[in-house]
Amino acid sequence: MALINCPDCGKELAESAKNCPHCGSMKHLQKGKLLACGCMIVLALLVWAFSAFMEYRWRQGN
Ligand SMILES: [Zn+2]
Repeated sequence: MALINCPDCGKELAESAKNCPHCGSMKHLQKGKLLACGCMIVLALLVWAFSAFMEYRWRQGN
């Protein structure tokens, strides 16, 4: 179980905790979701760029 620092009070809490046991903040959850969302967008862009590149290469070959 990973420990992270609360963005509000700075104390350690479990990554899986719904809210901070010290101050009750839920900001760390929103931050994690935003990060996951950003990773998905970057991944989608990479896949799109790769497929566009492959199509370009395929068209060049013909
Ligand atoms: Zn806190």
